[in-house]
Amino acid sequence: MLTIQAQLLTPDGLLQDGVVVVDDGRITAVSPPSLSPATVYAPDHFLVPGFIDLQLNGAFGLDFTRQPETIWAVAERLPQYGVTGFLPTVITCPLATVQKAQAVMAQQTLGQRRSTFAGAEPLGLHLEGPFLNPQKKGAHNPHHMQLPTLTAIADWSPETQVRLVTLAPELPGALPVITALAERGVIVSAGHSVASFAQAKTGFAAGVRYGTHLFNAMPGLHHREPGLVGALLDDARVSIGIIPDGIHVHPALLKLVWQAAGPRLNVVTDAMAALGMPPGAYDLGDFQVTVDETTCRLPDGTLAGSILGMDTAVRNLITYTGCTLAEAVAAVTAVPADLLGMRQQKGRIAPGYDADLVLLTPDLHIAMTMVHGHVVYDVMRDA
Ligand code: ZN
Repeated sequence: MLTIQAQLLTPDGLLQDGVVVVDDGRITAVSPPSLSPATVYAPDHFLVPGFIDLQLNGAFGLDFTRQPETIWAVAERLPQYGVTGFLPTVITCPLATVQKAQAVMAQQTLGQRRSTFAGAEPLGLHLEGPFLNPQKKGAHNPHHMQLPTLTAIADWSPETQVRLVTLAPELPGALPVITALAERGVIVSAGHSVASFAQAKTGFAAGVRYGTHLFNAMPGLHHREPGLVGALLDDARVSIGIIPDGIHVHPALLKLVWQAAGPRLNVVTDAMAALGMPPGAYDLGDFQVTVDETTCRLPDGTLAGSILGMDTAVRNLITYTGCTLAEAVAAVTAVPADLLGMRQQKGRIAPGYDADLVLLTPDLHIAMTMVHGHVVYDVMRDA
């Protein structure tokens, strides 16, 4: 058992001085300070739920699509950004590569991970493709894109490690695939798409519950054809992924989106192999990406993922929108946890929840990260 005394971000708001009790990987109590000294005493720090990134392509020089077996090595180092759970993202590729990623994920059961694994927890795959619209290919290889079929997804379910699928809902054959995946408990997301407003709404009715990186790889918002952007902003059934690096979306528009749909906004990094690395050339799927101090681009200038850390993303969201710490943290904790169907397990500081926790300095940098009650990053020890 251990105890952490800090300013606690709980579902009821900020508890200025409180103690979280952690035992056997879970939060067992949230209480006022007691007379006995806390294991971790940081009264000027914030203790918040661990960050969950639904879209991460790789990091530290490693690309999940090119080498799915690197998921575990990357997971070990993600807690430095406050990430405690993530969906390793495999972009458009041959179906055999998807199967390889599924096999890598299945190697370790959750029970084994809890006892032996010292990093962020992979919560299943995000398959971004191959059912995307070639008109909005972004940094994906259109040669591997295909029309959605029930045959291709026969083996896709949470049990086989497929947690989220991004597809273009306007493609022929998409609707039965959306319905089949949703019935199995896979989150279906609309993205890399030219769907009209009506086509997007038809996709939502079939089971789409998320939008992949709002504004990127979809037509802009037009006042007579609101398109996928307008449909996502309009519809309370869907959560909305967005990349707040200041490059993928202009800060002014991020602020507008926040005002329109703040509680449904989910911050993702879409980070790629160059995260945590110096500028240079890095892999993203089949392509080489040139990375400078701020951006990742293909030779033709197309954005190809980001080098955004999740802690920076949270600070950016506050800076760009003026939202509170609690609101920004919800966008990377409760919103993705609820979408994943883990509302009773992750994303909140409350008794019974997994002890996935982040201790933030007063200026919102990562001091310590805990996964299932284990300290997996400590700035004093690891930096
Ligand atoms: Zn994308």
